[in-house]
Amino acid sequence: MLGLMQSQPLLISSMIDFAERHHGEGEIVSRRVEGDIHRCTYKDIAGRSRQVANALDAMKLAFGDRVATLAWNGYRHLELYFGVSGSGRVLHTLNPRLHPDQIVWIANHSEDQVLCFDMTFLPIVKAVHARCTTIKHFIALCDAASLPADSGIPGLQSYEAWMGSQASKYTWPEFDENSASSMCYTSGTTGNPKAALYSHRSTILHAWAGAMPDALNMSARDSVLPVVPMFHVNAWGLPYSAAMTGAKMVFPGPAMDGKSIFDLIESENVTFAAGVPTVWQMMLGHMQQGGLRFSTLKRTVIGGSACPPAMIAAFNDDYGVEVLHAWGMTEMSPLGTVCTLKNKHTAMDASQKMAVRIKQGRGIYGVDMKIVDDLGAELPWDGKAFGDLLVKGPWVIREYFKGEGGSPLVNGWFPTGDVATIDPDGYLQITDRSKDVIKSGGEWISSIDVENIAMAHPAVAMAACIGMKHPKWDERPVVVVVKKPGAEVSREALLAFFEGKTAKWQIPDDVIFIDAIPLGATGKMQKVKLRETLKDYQLPTA
Ligand code: ADP
Repeated sequence: MLGLMQSQPLLISSMIDFAERHHGEGEIVSRRVEGDIHRCTYKDIAGRSRQVANALDAMKLAFGDRVATLAWNGYRHLELYFGVSGSGRVLHTLNPRLHPDQIVWIANHSEDQVLCFDMTFLPIVKAVHARCTTIKHFIALCDAASLPADSGIPGLQSYEAWMGSQASKYTWPEFDENSASSMCYTSGTTGNPKAALYSHRSTILHAWAGAMPDALNMSARDSVLPVVPMFHVNAWGLPYSAAMTGAKMVFPGPAMDGKSIFDLIESENVTFAAGVPTVWQMMLGHMQQGGLRFSTLKRTVIGGSACPPAMIAAFNDDYGVEVLHAWGMTEMSPLGTVCTLKNKHTAMDASQKMAVRIKQGRGIYGVDMKIVDDLGAELPWDGKAFGDLLVKGPWVIREYFKGEGGSPLVNGWFPTGDVATIDPDGYLQITDRSKDVIKSGGEWISSIDVENIAMAHPAVAMAACIGMKHPKWDERPVVVVVKKPGAEVSREALLAFFEGKTAKWQIPDDVIFIDAIPLGATGKMQKVKLRETLKDYQLPTA
């Protein structure tokens, strides 16, 4: 017997319809490439998304055709999120921080038909357009007056002229909720990048779960600042969760430095922000230097790489801001776990709570996870046993776009490439990425643990721990450190700082000071590059 409730496909268009009807006056504030602050409402975004849909129809773009973006976080990008996917095309958010050759490779692989780009990226588009063989239409995200006359890009149009001439009346099409809605290529630290292809259904379920109180806790009372780019796994789903809840959205545009982010948080009464640790490191540095305080910020979700406990403590103790440490990946849309406390933790003292908060958190409803040993046998949730982390759920990848790499699943589970422990309360702790873990004398050393200790030293701005070949122990850890401006610490003092904080054999053999650690396109430390730079390095002989 079937249930007798209405069957309505879960489509992305329904979210912007909802936001327009129930939160029409809800604000969308964007710092623009033009330098000014732009203000509009969900009602405006909804109307302009429909204009985008009409413009795509006028180009005779087929259902499922890819529309690429090279764009910062801003209202025009948001309109493309809804207009492109809502009309049945697939939004492909290209990462402008990639090398132009990689952008060409990715655009050709995904067979993009249209490219919409912020004027910041005009030089990239000039350099790549002739090699992007499938792109027929180039659209600059600006008004007609700002369009360069001599770009050399064939048929270049301004976004405002392209969509502005269209009607804002449009009936969103109804189709299978499993249809593709957007795609995102993984950073491809090894081999060619592969794309995760999200569906309308997976996107809505993910946004729904992400908005829940024990996840990101989003509501119509929030003012949300996604510092995480809209080209990085759909800004962790925040644009969708915001439309679903009617939260105010604040977009930083190209200005990602500590001062600009802090100023925007203050001027727009931001209550909730999201970003990778490196972004917050810059902002905390700016605040510490200027003795600044937040007026409205209540919580911030930090993920993408391990958030050092020192950063969680700085936000919490110095500024009264709750850090939600979260873990996920492109292949998971991306949310997997978020660290929020349980009822049993509420009576605990601050240090006991902190011991929970530094973990990557609990699985949110919809994501199942397990850890396994080398033979695939499931390991206990005792907070000690660590093994390969596998996940499954309706917003976890089944297969990469075009079947690249074959089926990634193992008996229906997706292997994340991370190594983790899970404690009896279900809190996940990422020990390492399997390729970064340091194998010393048959034991494993977590590079994250070593980095977290180094980061707690007041003179350390950034730390990366990597394994170096060792004749006896196979590998030994060294820690590569960038000092804070004006701060001093010696190799010996930093090594002494590890004493008593970890087992003796887990203390690095050496400290290497460098000016900057190479960061990848999504703000993560690039250990592969770092290893290349240090290829002639010799471990000190004891
Ligand atoms: P890529 O694999 O291309 O770097 P992602 O941006 O999807 O792409 O990165 C996902 C990976 O980032 C995870 O598998 C994990 O190794 C790491 N990661 C994400 N969040 C955290 C976190 N909170 N703590 C530790 N590692 C994290």
